[in-house]
Amino acid sequence: MPKRRSLVAANWKMNGSLESIGQLVGAISQGVSQETESEVLICPPFVYISELAGLLEKTDIRLGAQNASHLKSGAFTGEIAPSMLKDFACEYVIVGHSERRTLYGENDMRVAEKFVAVQASGMIPILCIGELLEERESNSTEEVIARQLDAVIELAGIMAFKEAVIAYEPVWAIGTGKTATPEQAQEVHEFIRLRLARHDHETAEGVRILYGGSVKADNAKQLFELADIDGGLIGGASLVADDFLTICHSVR
Ligand code: PEP
Repeated sequence: MPKRRSLVAANWKMNGSLESIGQLVGAISQGVSQETESEVLICPPFVYISELAGLLEKTDIRLGAQNASHLKSGAFTGEIAPSMLKDFACEYVIVGHSERRTLYGENDMRVAEKFVAVQASGMIPILCIGELLEERESNSTEEVIARQLDAVIELAGIMAFKEAVIAYEPVWAIGTGKTATPEQAQEVHEFIRLRLARHDHETAEGVRILYGGSVKADNAKQLFELADIDGGLIGGASLVADDFLTICHSVR
């Protein structure tokens, strides 16, 4: 089985300006080259995707989006279709981020539909799954993860995970400065891989599972060292070039 190549993905959320993203990309791209062990991805706000497509063209950094509609086109004010993102050289799309699930009411079925729509447009979905604090405290982490994962397996089929990435993001660790311990993270990553392996062992072994939730320059290495952690989805720390680059260079 070939080694899974690590992926470090920046989720800029709703941050930045035309000027600041230019500076940030300039600084990040100076520290990323063909020799960089991990694949590096930036997911800016929608309106900056076109600008970034130009800025990243001659770099080794990939471009992605933070969300997409599950629909192809039509009267859906404010929505962005996957094919539109593909037009601007996006290769990845985050689906089911916990902020979309909790603040915008995206349920498991809607997330699964987005996953399918992104792949149908020739891009790679990054499926975010993770439990709330109260779910962890009531020992329901595995039940929640299984439910979120199974909804996508049911709609897309297990083979769809050959062209997908999963991000385990405990909701209580996102933007809180509270990181899961390496043991807590590895335990859930292993559970995710085993859940996929029930359907197809090879697919489970090949899929990259990222950890997200307050990954910083000083804790990335100990998380990325673990057997089932294949990189990270980085929020806050991806807005500071030096911190993000340290994280990119912390992969095993
Ligand atoms: C995220 O938004 O996916 C995330 C992990 O954020 P942060 O790194 O800021 O916790």
